[in-house]
Amino acid sequence: MKPGAIIALSLSGYIIYLGFRTFSMLNPTSPQRLKEAQDNIPSASEQRADNLWAYYLINAENPLDSDFTVGLDTVVGSFMLDERCAGYARQMLEDAKKDGIELTVVSAYRSVQKQQENLESYTERLISLGHSSTEARKLAEKEIALPYTSEHNAGLALDILTPDWWETHDDVTADFDKTEQFRWLSENAHKYGFIMRYPREYEDVTGIIYEPWHYRFVGVYYANEIRESGLPLEYFYKTNF
Ligand SMILES: [Zn+2]
Repeated sequence: MKPGAIIALSLSGYIIYLGFRTFSMLNPTSPQRLKEAQDNIPSASEQRADNLWAYYLINAENPLDSDFTVGLDTVVGSFMLDERCAGYARQMLEDAKKDGIELTVVSAYRSVQKQQENLESYTERLISLGHSSTEARKLAEKEIALPYTSEHNAGLALDILTPDWWETHDDVTADFDKTEQFRWLSENAHKYGFIMRYPREYEDVTGIIYEPWHYRFVGVYYANEIRESGLPLEYFYKTNF
């Protein structure tokens, strides 16, 4: 091989390598990026962590026990959360209000029975929009978790919108991330132990669509750690325990 060809080959190899690196850096779910992020996560410090009772995974693979029960306390109106974190949520709503931000809670604790009803009625709605029943069910399950697999069933999650949301929308959409309420939550929710649980970049990991309105209580310590890492709870959780 001529020296020129060798240089050209090495150069193209290097360009491909650089391209891969750039792709890895820009793509938050690339294996390299995940590995780098994982290496940077501090190890769990149970001594410093608060509310460890709330630090567990609820998703399709990790459902609540069928005999799960929870003590409830009011957050606002008829919306309730686990009594151990309802106070954190009340404080968050109150402090947001002091900053001139009205956070409207539209969902909190949901019984397993209610979860089942929601899933069924949403499936029906999708069927009425022209989807086949199998397709409708599959799509519905992407947006509404199966009973026992929702953080709402555990009393650990709040859905928050703007007070005038339903005047301009007929559904909960990702557009919530363009509101001042979302901006406030992005800057402050972690201080009260809540994380935005389903980031856009990790739909494949969480199995749930991007939900800028869904906030999950994990305790203040882990909310800070998770927010800083930029990773979803699934990934973080596996790393620490
Ligand atoms: Zn939710």
